[in-house]
Amino acid sequence: MKQIILCYQGEMALKGLNKATFEASLAKAVRFRLRDLGEFKVYKAQSTLYIEPETEDADMDEAFRRVSRVFGIAAMSRAAVCEKDFDAICAAAGEYLADSLRRARTFKVEAKRSDKRFPMKSPEISRELGGYLLSRFPHLKVDVHNPDLTVMVEVRDFAAYVHGDKVPGAGGLPVGTSGRALNMLSGGIDSPVAAWRMARRGLALHHIHFASPPYTSERAKLKVKALAQIVSEWTGSCVLYVVPYTEPQEYIRDHGPAPLFTVLMRRSMLRIAHQIAESIDCQAIVTGESLAQVASQTLRALACTDEVQPLPVLRPLIGMDKSEIVATSRAIGAFETSILPYEDCCTIFTPPHPKTRPTLEEIRAAEEAMPGLAELEKKAAAEVERIRIDWQDEVEYLE
Ligand code: ATP
Ligand code: MG
Repeated sequence: MKQIILCYQGEMALKGLNKATFEASLAKAVRFRLRDLGEFKVYKAQSTLYIEPETEDADMDEAFRRVSRVFGIAAMSRAAVCEKDFDAICAAAGEYLADSLRRARTFKVEAKRSDKRFPMKSPEISRELGGYLLSRFPHLKVDVHNPDLTVMVEVRDFAAYVHGDKVPGAGGLPVGTSGRALNMLSGGIDSPVAAWRMARRGLALHHIHFASPPYTSERAKLKVKALAQIVSEWTGSCVLYVVPYTEPQEYIRDHGPAPLFTVLMRRSMLRIAHQIAESIDCQAIVTGESLAQVASQTLRALACTDEVQPLPVLRPLIGMDKSEIVATSRAIGAFETSILPYEDCCTIFTPPHPKTRPTLEEIRAAEEAMPGLAELEKKAAAEVERIRIDWQDEVEYLE
């Protein structure tokens, strides 16, 4: 039986005049993701994206899995395609959904007729198909409020489609439709979640990581690479920029007041991130900061870091509790990697009593007493290592 994947748009359907641009981006993203799985026809009609295999051997399971990671799709279903004929619809429903119908105790039929030339109205299709399925699967009972299974029939322009319950898609907007940003990726739990959330709002992303060898190890870098690889299932291929940050960091340790160390370091990181962002045409910087999580994430500290460079700093986790962040981290498959032990440059040299309410005056005074820092930052930015992350590569195993 011929199958098709139907992708339903959520928020994108509300985009007014820009809708066509969003839909074109979505179709392009889907085509790109399926390139190596066989021939697929991807087209749009009635606010739905149709993914139709054109060859027998197209891998529909993998296609469904991949499409479920494409942002811009609110819900999906995998449907049987049949003629717009009531008997054909009954036969398709009985056969295609046989396993689910056998397993269910209760069901209902929901019909949608967008092709008004079809002679039966939606309530009539639901009623008649319900009757047919009851006669074929006599153990079933109808429950219109809370059924185990909803049998859906959509009579559309080109054909009729029969499927079970829709499943949620990845949501959000197609990657790239909101511009491009540079995500600050540490090896922790938060920053991969931040990246995922901003990509979901339509941002294309690259990542920047600050490494301070020998204080941070090669293994810590591999871990960050693995996280970028995991997130790339949603964001697509990207570049991970690794900044050799040892010298600026030692300089701040040796020349700045200890209680201000973290804020001074974060300002320094943002100056470097800004340089890289400008050079690759990113219009914002993303971080995994969450209000009051640590001393460098108080309002005063955030105000001090925001002020060093002109790009907007996006902090999608700012109002989230750790437990909510962890839930998302698990859901996107990053958690197990994020909790592997490692050293991050943000956690070395941290003072025992960081100042939670730094003022810009004292920060500026401290920076004036560090005249050599700008040169070291420039050098670090120039020596950045560029690691290409291909969304189709396997995540490298970390011992
Ligand atoms: P995470 O779990 O993402 O490591 P965190 O709660 O440990 O975050 P911090 O270490 O204070 O918080 O870092 C806050 C944010 O700063 C991170 O979410 C990340 O965006 C960025 N960041 C921290 N360390 C690095 C690093 N070594 N390279 C790049 N960005 C970093
Ligand atoms: Mg961290």
